[in-house]
Amino acid sequence: MSAADDERLPAWVTWRQRAFPDANLLLLHGGRPALVDSGFVGHAEETAEWAQAHAGHIELVVNTHWHSDHVGGNALLQAGGSAIAAGAPEAAAVARRDPGCCSAEHLDQPVAPYTVDEPLHDDRLLRLGDADWTVVSTPGHTPGHLALWQPEERLLAVGDALSDYDVGWVDLALDGPDVAATALASLQRLADLAPRVLLPGHGPLPADPGAAFATALRRAQRLVDDPDGAVWYGARRIFAYALMIRDGIPATDAEPYLHARSWLTDAAGLLRRTPETLAAELIDTMLRSGAIVLRAGRLHAAAEHTPVDAATLRVPFPRAWPNSYSQQSE
Ligand SMILES: [Zn+2]
Repeated sequence: MSAADDERLPAWVTWRQRAFPDANLLLLHGGRPALVDSGFVGHAEETAEWAQAHAGHIELVVNTHWHSDHVGGNALLQAGGSAIAAGAPEAAAVARRDPGCCSAEHLDQPVAPYTVDEPLHDDRLLRLGDADWTVVSTPGHTPGHLALWQPEERLLAVGDALSDYDVGWVDLALDGPDVAATALASLQRLADLAPRVLLPGHGPLPADPGAAFATALRRAQRLVDDPDGAVWYGARRIFAYALMIRDGIPATDAEPYLHARSWLTDAAGLLRRTPETLAAELIDTMLRSGAIVLRAGRLHAAAEHTPVDAATLRVPFPRAWPNSYSQQSE
């Protein structure tokens, strides 16, 4: 699973591909050891141990965006003295403990409480390891999503903007009808950088960044042209993730589980269906496509994923996070 010895990467970069529910890790060695994204909360200890074993004390954790598979190790690393940097809109929402933080409650994905020490704006220069990186604001998958560009080595860390096989899903209910076009514009901006190495949040390093961008741009255009398709795509990804972090859900509980989710209700509204109809249709189409499977009475996600200890899911949603102000050094 590790491409740490990938010959395209300079010696001061350690890359680790991870299966769901964790995003990939990017470790930058040098005077200011830094980690890009921190995995899912259920694997926070493993993430922190791995990062420290390879780079010593991690001075800075940079989040490409606040989804649970990218920020789950923040709390533990921050408790160990790491600072957290994230896109300015996300930093502001985290500081005020906005109930929408991380879309944790909306998506029913746990995130341990953290604070953001360094809000990042577009074009900000950031010292990571021993190299200077530029923050590239890339709203779409989330409003605060960012990419990181290293111009000398032409490395581009893209979070969930694209992977070797797909583009990030967009939330039309939460972020408005123009969000797919916003994501497409962000993707074009990244493609224009013409990176030598593309470092995605999920999946392998693309063998050919140009080809990966061409595929992703076509896919992003389809999400613009077909809003219903974009809603379906998001719903499938969110439900598969819910199954992964819970070691599946009993088949008899799956529909009631879905009816109680705000993302499902929102999607049903956009698709002109009742939540009940959409839930049944979602399960049916995902079973038929093979995206989910029924095993011993439980629905499971078919994609490869690492088991999660159920106890680690018991963290409060952001509306119940302890106030951040006392912890912040202004
Ligand atoms: Zn994401």
